[in-house]
Amino acid sequence: MSDVRERVGEEEWTLRIELAAAYQVFALLGWTHLIHTHITVKSGENQFLINPLGFLWDEITASSLVTVDGDGQILEHGSTQSSINPAGFKIHSAIHTSVREMEWVMHIHVADVMAVASLKQGLIPGLSIYSMDIGGISYHDFEHATSEDSDVCDRMIADLGPVNKVLLLRNHGAITVGDSVHETFYLTYQLIEACRVQLLTLSATETDSDYSIVPEAIVEETYRIVQAKYTGEEFGKLEWEAIRRKMESEQGLTYQQ
Ligand SMILES: [Zn+2]
Ligand SMILES: [Zn+2]
Repeated sequence: MSDVRERVGEEEWTLRIELAAAYQVFALLGWTHLIHTHITVKSGENQFLINPLGFLWDEITASSLVTVDGDGQILEHGSTQSSINPAGFKIHSAIHTSVREMEWVMHIHVADVMAVASLKQGLIPGLSIYSMDIGGISYHDFEHATSEDSDVCDRMIADLGPVNKVLLLRNHGAITVGDSVHETFYLTYQLIEACRVQLLTLSATETDSDYSIVPEAIVEETYRIVQAKYTGEEFGKLEWEAIRRKMESEQGLTYQQ
């Protein structure tokens, strides 16, 4: 049994395996920016897990994750002596500890998402079955988290708003939030595919009269159907378990160490 496992207890260890699986799946799907961006999860009262700074996502294991408090102070270094990205965690912490109290926060720089985030029109909700699964989209104008202006987090929380689970960061990427790893993963998946379809559609057409858009009422109805366990399971649960099996068959189980 690893030292970290003994120190953190069973409950956090289970969560560490789940979070490490998420990093591995993102690596498998190519949703990474080298050592940058983050997936975080609330692991206890004022405790969160985040990736150690400087590691590729397919190098991340349950032991190597870092436990921090809401201010980014390290509570458990994990198996590396690495630090974390404090500016990055500041944003995640603000979302975890806001009134929304989201358990999972995923942050990506995937190029297709960054491109759509920078389009003035943003993501077109009625363009694809992917975009119809996402629900409302929020937008946040570019500013760097390391900005001296400490109100950056407040503005981001205000832009995310009370309901939406996708925040497109203009010229930057996206943040997705959810109550479980499967919900947040599948939301991220649908977002990335929705952005790809939109870029393909826009590149193959000249004006918006060249493509069809599903009317708003049908978009909303489709979203309700997808959220209402039409697979018999919670949103994303079967999809997450399937991709996790694929990751484990290709990359092995060393991420659980
Ligand atoms: Zn970023
Ligand atoms: Zn982040």
